[in-house]
Amino acid sequence: MDNCVFCKIIDGSIPSNKVYEDDKMLAFHDIQPETPVHIVMIPKEHIASVDEVNAENSDVIAHIFSKAGEIAASVGLENGYRIVTNCGPDAGQTVFHIHFHLMGGKTLGKMV
Ligand code: 5GP
Ligand code: ZN
Repeated sequence: MDNCVFCKIIDGSIPSNKVYEDDKMLAFHDIQPETPVHIVMIPKEHIASVDEVNAENSDVIAHIFSKAGEIAASVGLENGYRIVTNCGPDAGQTVFHIHFHLMGGKTLGKMV
């Protein structure tokens, strides 16, 4: 997808600090971390947001969650973590390639 920053990270035209990669997904450190550990997990397929997830493409979302615990452990989040996804303007989504923030490294406090 042209002009998608995360597609450019996938194709390597924008560098990233990767922590996990396979044929379906990529996980890398957020450029502006909001917690001591702040990873972004994305599918390699361009899906704009949760609104665009459907029966045809949901396998890759399940795949991301099947790897999340392993990725969290690999970056030292043995005491817990939070996974967040923003969808649309009210949630403050800024990059319209679906992504899951994997956050931790401190006590996060209650959010919901
Ligand atoms: P959103 O606000 O859409 O939920 O999250 C987008 C996230 O992507 C933000 O936390 C932002 O810091 C991160 N981000 C945006 N551009 C880049 C980039 O070029 N590299 C990396 N590593 N993270 C980025
Ligand atoms: Zn994209």
